[in-house]
Amino acid sequence: MLTMQTKYIVVLGSLMSGLGKGVVTSSILRMLDFYGYKVLPIKFDGYLNYDCGTMNPYQHGEVFVLDDSSEVDMDFGIYERFLNKDLTGDMSITGGKLFSAITSKERKGDYLGGTVQIIPHLTGEIMGRIEGIAKSKGADVLVIEVGGTVGDLENNYFIEAMRQMSLKRDVAFINLTYIPELAAVGEQKTKPAQIGLRLLLQAGINPDFIVCRTSTKLTDSTKEKLALFGNLEKSAIIDDPDLPTLYSLPLKFMEQGFDKMLISKLGLEGRSIDSEKVASWKERVRRIISPKHDANIAIVGKYMTLRDSYASVKEAIIHAGSAADSSVNVSWVESTGFDDGKGDYSIFTNTDGIIVTGGFGKRGTEGMINIIRYAREKGIPYLGLCLGMQMMAVEYARHVAGFVGANSSEFDSNTKHRVISLLDSQKRVTNKGGTMRLGAQECVLPLKDSIAYRAYGSQKVSERHRHRYEFNNSYRDALTKAGLKISGTTADSKLVEFIEWPYGFGIGTQSHPELKSRLEAPAPLFVALADAAKEHHLRNDSRR
Ligand code: GLN
Repeated sequence: MLTMQTKYIVVLGSLMSGLGKGVVTSSILRMLDFYGYKVLPIKFDGYLNYDCGTMNPYQHGEVFVLDDSSEVDMDFGIYERFLNKDLTGDMSITGGKLFSAITSKERKGDYLGGTVQIIPHLTGEIMGRIEGIAKSKGADVLVIEVGGTVGDLENNYFIEAMRQMSLKRDVAFINLTYIPELAAVGEQKTKPAQIGLRLLLQAGINPDFIVCRTSTKLTDSTKEKLALFGNLEKSAIIDDPDLPTLYSLPLKFMEQGFDKMLISKLGLEGRSIDSEKVASWKERVRRIISPKHDANIAIVGKYMTLRDSYASVKEAIIHAGSAADSSVNVSWVESTGFDDGKGDYSIFTNTDGIIVTGGFGKRGTEGMINIIRYAREKGIPYLGLCLGMQMMAVEYARHVAGFVGANSSEFDSNTKHRVISLLDSQKRVTNKGGTMRLGAQECVLPLKDSIAYRAYGSQKVSERHRHRYEFNNSYRDALTKAGLKISGTTADSKLVEFIEWPYGFGIGTQSHPELKSRLEAPAPLFVALADAAKEHHLRNDSRR
């Protein structure tokens, strides 16, 4: 059989960020995967950080972690959630990685005698990496998302590399742009999009498709104008309107024949679509939009002003809601408001499930402990993620096992009861970047009668991690005697991975199961929480 040469799709945004380039890229991946093509994403980020590991979530949103322990841009979360495939760190190409590779090659003498330049050395490095991935992964199509917007200084060498690549490979360029509609005028305006387009044309790239973010449907005259300025057919101007859920976007694109046009533009071999897969996607989307049941979930954390910090948690709840055929109305609770016994607990009156999220630093942790106590005492289903598990252990130690002042040594190094303490492997770590306990780790669930085992239905599971502290083994016996269940550990039993309350629904995990949740493969613990919350809601409703 003839092997097909890898084809490339490059997604470029113009005018402004926040248009949902990650969702567009992911929808393209989803559509092509429906046909069985082997598709993979590549993300380019122009910043000079090596990776996202040292970035503050306030500035850059969530740090996403892959199985192979890479700390990557949160767009990788979107790709995995749509594509349902485990991705790898080499697919994240940053300015930092490129420049450090070029400099170390230069020091080794690889360019001896030459002046090292953006063109051809840096652009060559980019093309080499992309083709290397295409080959090593055997991809039919690579969908490359270029971070930032056209015209930025930070990504222009990357865009130039893509232009050069299109001279020798099959490349389809997609320009994502914005069409504003001023209420007072009641008309869609194409001028900003034209300006963005002009910048792209100046860079030597004529897009093959223009995807337009709008609040409503594109009018015919908008499409005609953009087609004219973009040297395109009207059919190449694609609608990307506001939708009730972003998981509808692949379906919206397919209604417009975007999948078929892309396949024909790239000259991909003809294949038929997997209609069962499409139907199951549609059903999952239907259950997000019009679910049969109801539940209210509170997400408690400390970066609440920036919801992007918890993107994966929020999406995992949506996947779980779809699996449970239940709405999951999320409210965001800033834990600092509950420090020192303050806080208005009446906000939890209608809450059917509480999640305490991961995080670093002391701020807000006493508030988390207070909220966890409230959940335990009031019988509200609880899920603790990483820091949320650590604080669950501290709460239990303080209020049930009687260890006064128990804490994590991250927050109180003088506490008599360090129920959570630094991992041994972390004691000599000095560098901050890439040095946490990271990536997929295997874990065993020894107790058949546990929430964890029932949720996963298996004794061996693998979840992703990102932390430096752990459950202190010196407290295992005392806390177990006080009723806390240790329902999961590493295979050698050295690290505690899952803990549970002996009654009601309360579970904490040292891992981040939200990082592996996908619409087609929701995280088991989130589904268990959604089911428990749904039941809690029914019980509460019948009491009203
Ligand atoms: N700060 C805690 C630790 O490093 C928890 C980390 C997290 O929630 N990701 O162990």
